[in-house]
Formats: sequence, C-alpha cells, structure tokens
Amino acid sequence: MGTPSKIDLTWLKNNPGKIFNTPLLLQERQDMLDNIPVSSCEAACWKPEAKGLPSRRVLSGTNARTHTILESQPEKLNIILGSTCNLTCSYCDKQYSSSWLRDISNGTYLDTPKFTLTPLDRVMLKVSQKEHQQTDGFATVLNEVKTFTNVKNICITGGEPFLYNSFPELLNNLTGSEEIMFYTGLGVDHSRLKTQLSKINNHSNLTVVVSAENIDKFYEFNRYGNTYENFTKNLNLLIEQGFKIIFGVVLSNLTIHGLVDFVNAHGDSIDYTFCNDPTYLQINVLDSDTVDQLAKQISASDIAIKDEIIKALYVPNTRKQQENCATFLKEFARRRNLNLDIFPESMLQWLGIKENYVV
Ligand code: SF4
Repeated sequence: MGTPSKIDLTWLKNNPGKIFNTPLLLQERQDMLDNIPVSSCEAACWKPEAKGLPSRRVLSGTNARTHTILESQPEKLNIILGSTCNLTCSYCDKQYSSSWLRDISNGTYLDTPKFTLTPLDRVMLKVSQKEHQQTDGFATVLNEVKTFTNVKNICITGGEPFLYNSFPELLNNLTGSEEIMFYTGLGVDHSRLKTQLSKINNHSNLTVVVSAENIDKFYEFNRYGNTYENFTKNLNLLIEQGFKIIFGVVLSNLTIHGLVDFVNAHGDSIDYTFCNDPTYLQINVLDSDTVDQLAKQISASDIAIKDEIIKALYVPNTRKQQENCATFLKEFARRRNLNLDIFPESMLQWLGIKENYVV
C-alpha cells in the first residue's frame, strides 16, 4: 500500500468490481515487475530505504516477488470508515477524529500540520456522516467490497466504528471465512453499543481491539470524551456477549503513568505500539525522577514487554520535545478543564508547569 490514489467513481461505475484493477494500478504492477520504482511507493518505501531505514515493504516481507499476474484481488484489506469520533485521545489528531478536527477549528496548539486546518479539513467540518454515507461514492465502494473473493484478513478502523450506523451491516456483509479485526475506543453511549452489537449476526471470526491503556483519572485524561465508568460498562458488555478482545495500547509520556494499574485490572492481552508521532509525546520525554519511578514500577510488574519499555524510557529527549510537550499539555488541559496534578510533581516542574496547576 503506497500513497493513496483518488477513486474515479465514473470509471468505477462503468467497470464494476475493478477498484483494485484500475489502469493506474495495473501500470504500477507492470512497472514493479520491470523493477521500475513507482511514485506511490515513494514515501513509505523508497525514501526510508534510501536513508538506510526499514521500509514498510521490508518490514512486512513484501519485497519478495509473489504475484506476477497484473489483475489481482486483495488478500488483506484495511478499511478506514472515516473520522467520526466523539473522543480526543491525547495522541490522536484531526485525521482520525472529528472531535479533534472541531477542537483545532477553535485555534491551534502548536505551529505544526497536525494542528493546522487545510481547505479539505474545512469542507469535512461541514459534512455529516449521514451526508457522507448517502453519497453515491460510499454506496459504490461498499458494492465493490462485496465482490472481493480472496480476502483473508480485514482490519477496520475509524474514527469510532460504533458511531457508524452502517457498521453492523458492513460486518455482516464481510463475514465469511476471513479473520476480521476492528479498533474501538468504546466511547459510545452504552445503549447505542447494545443496539449496534445486537445487529451483528456472527462474531466467531471477529477480534475487537479495544484502545485503552489506563484506568480512572488517567483514562479520562488520555481518552478524553469517555468516562472510565462508561468504558468498563461497555467492555463488560463485549465480554458478556463472548466477543474476542485484545487491548490496543499506545505508549506515550502521558499514557505510561498507570499502565501497571491497567494491566493489573484488565490483563496483558495487549498489542503495544510506541507513540512516535508527535515526537513530544514519545515515552522518553519525561524528567529523570519520573523515569526512575516508572522504571521501578514497571520492572516489578508482569508487563510482557517491560524490558523494551524501560529501555525506551531512558532514551535521551531534547529541549524542543520538552518545550512542545509543555505547550501541548497546558493547552490540552485548559480546553478540557482538566487538572494536571494527576501527573508527578517533578514532571510538572520539569515542564515548567506550576505545582498543583489548576486550569
Ligand atoms: S478513539 Fe480512536 S479515533 Fe477516536 S480519538 Fe481516540 S484514537 Fe482517535
């Protein structure tokens, strides 16, 4: 998967079932077979490889030649439903969450693309989910998905899938022999979740990846927009109904506090990701006292990847990361009326945020 290309809906309507066999894709496959670098692989593969960094194709073992026929059907499918989401998780952004998009329409946090509205963002602010889903394009693409016969793995993300009215219908249309995984923050109202779950016909090959890494106040800070009470109620409903669950944990300098409590409360069936974007939320952007305390706590825990976490905590940070973290954190808390004194005192002092800081 490289840089996305725009779907030509007029062409697609005249060529149903060919969404992955457009003239452009066929030409790119031919070029790849002829060892000609294609421009849509530039950002994800050619650039990092030129710098000696691992590229997506190398990491996923797809640099080996496996397919030689140009016309092809997908075996793995990543479906991004859209960005409708009622949460503003601390590490997330306008690209994935409509709540983040609305938030930055009220002003920036830092002078970076993450916090800057583009003309497309301004259009997206005005389009409702209903309008989006009633478009011709949405129906055309959904019909295309129904024609795929070779898919073995499907991963669905949002936004928040349970906020999409047609999400159960999509799952019901996809259910076959393939393994389906979807990500949710479980931030929806409990009764809505119940209704959405009741419309799913079969969940034997579904895995629900629940995004969370903290309990109580840290949860409500980092997964802003949901309460911990609603989260646990929703989680218990999934468990009662026999859904297969793993947790999707994003490790940042804000989510690492209380990770041990989360693992103690919910177990260690976890898929861990280190937050690398934005860099000021990397796990190592902390003062040395906090790092020592966390390392001690984590080393005494049952966390499966504790050695990797402790090693990452001790990677040196930069002055710029420290400054950006302070600016972001103060603004994030101010806009949400959150109290920062849940974080260690030494961390708040290191960031230049007053002790017992109250917004
Ligand atoms: S629930 Fe997911 S999409 Fe929504 S803000 Fe959190 S990380 Fe972003």
